Amino acid sequence: MTSRRRFLASTAAAAAAAVLAPHVASAQAAAARVVVVGGGFAGTTCARTLRKLDPALSVTLVEANADFVACPFSNEVIAGLRDLKQQQFGYTTLARDGVTLAHSSATAVDPGGRTVTLENGTRLSFDRLVLAPGIDLRWDGLPGYTQDAAERMPHAWKAGAQTLLLRRQLEAMDDGGVVVMSAPANPFRCPPGPYERASLIAYYLKTKKPKSKLILLDAKDAFSKQRLFQSAWAALYPGLLEWVGLSAGGKVTSVEPSSLTFITDFARHKAAVANVIPPQKAARIAELAGVADRTGWCPVDPSTFESTLQSGIHVIGDAAIMGAMPKSAFAANAQAKACAAAVVARLAGQGVAEPRLINTCYSLVAPDYGISVAGVYRPTNGQLADIAGAGGVSPLDADAAFRAQEALYAQGWFKTITAEVFG
Ligand SMILES: Cc1cc2nc3c(=O)[nH]c(=O)nc-3n(C[C@H](O)[C@H](O)[C@H](O)COP(=O)(O)OP(=O)(O)OC[C@H]3O[C@@H](n4cnc5c(N)ncnc54)[C@H](O)[C@@H]3O)c2cc1C
Repeated sequence: MTSRRRFLASTAAAAAAAVLAPHVASAQAAAARVVVVGGGFAGTTCARTLRKLDPALSVTLVEANADFVACPFSNEVIAGLRDLKQQQFGYTTLARDGVTLAHSSATAVDPGGRTVTLENGTRLSFDRLVLAPGIDLRWDGLPGYTQDAAERMPHAWKAGAQTLLLRRQLEAMDDGGVVVMSAPANPFRCPPGPYERASLIAYYLKTKKPKSKLILLDAKDAFSKQRLFQSAWAALYPGLLEWVGLSAGGKVTSVEPSSLTFITDFARHKAAVANVIPPQKAARIAELAGVADRTGWCPVDPSTFESTLQSGIHVIGDAAIMGAMPKSAFAANAQAKACAAAVVARLAGQGVAEPRLINTCYSLVAPDYGISVAGVYRPTNGQLADIAGAGGVSPLDADAAFRAQEALYAQGWFKTITAEVFG
């Protein structure tokens, strides 16, 4: 563990140096216009980094919402351990970095004409466009699960009103109720997220409604940090949290919102509280821009993040296909910095250095019980691939003090990244 942390620290320094490498201030780049769509972890980081790398650039960030509500740590809100306000961040400091904020939704992209049209009627011209719109839920991906159904069976996979709805339903549930969750097949936003959520809901039930039970129906047999989660569940939540994998009949084939029922090939599971995490895809604007393929996600060059379907348009964060790199806020932030360097280099007619990208995902199994997975990635055969031996997971046999320390690291990570991106 110690050597893994030392390695990651040195790699992080190297990656930061690599990102800051191109010193560009050519006349050609000076007048260039970059539009970034999506003010989440990826887009906001990219917009700021672009201006830091080349203060002469004109950078406009297009964001639909007035405030950003962060998903990391939203599972703690659902479990009653945190207030939603702690998840909310504004965009007021963007101007300090010389980034122009266009508070509107991007409704169309003309890749040939190099323009983005906004809902408020504005048309923005660009030399390079960065799309960082995150995900949309596939409303056609699970029979019975519609936008109306989500008001009864919340997904809470975009933080905000849905997070609070699930929280309120858990609070209103009688002790002895059965909470049922479903997790989708890969790929989806935050691979460890459903398992952290199950853990923290189990913590809430154990401490507040001990006669209750949680069933997690899963469309997979394997998931992120599986051995760590399962050994923690056996120790902390025996008899309370039941995980049903694909081969045990966990794949949900449809839902019945009127009766809060999940249907699999083998059984019907009626819930007192139902949390559906449905299949996902890149957010709609990616499709409209012609950068999403038939999978619903966006293929990109792993060194520049430029779309393989439309030149001049880069895609970062959850919307993109990143090979082995998971869809996380940490990853979105790392990709955004490397993408900004690539955009600046391209605008200056320079080559792009092959990036090394780091991801670490912390999960809480209980408030004082943290686990993590880390990986380092490099472009390989058109994808981002794991650098063998560079990452790892928390040790399986760690003691309580170690787990408590990792829970603190998780808090520290959230404070650091949100201060960097939105502070
Ligand atoms: C429950 C849960 C827990 C998680 N925990 C962690 C964690 O512990 N660690 C971690 O690293 N990651 C975690 N994640 C994953 C993380 O939230 C995402 O990977 C991250 O938010 C992706 O960043 P992004 O910038 O690609 O997308 P987002 O953060 O979703 O940002 C996209 C932005 O684009 C805007 N947008 C979309 N379309 C348009 C448009 N047409 N016009 C204008 N604006 C638009 C949206 O309003 C949004 O602000 C978690 C996710 C969930 C659901």
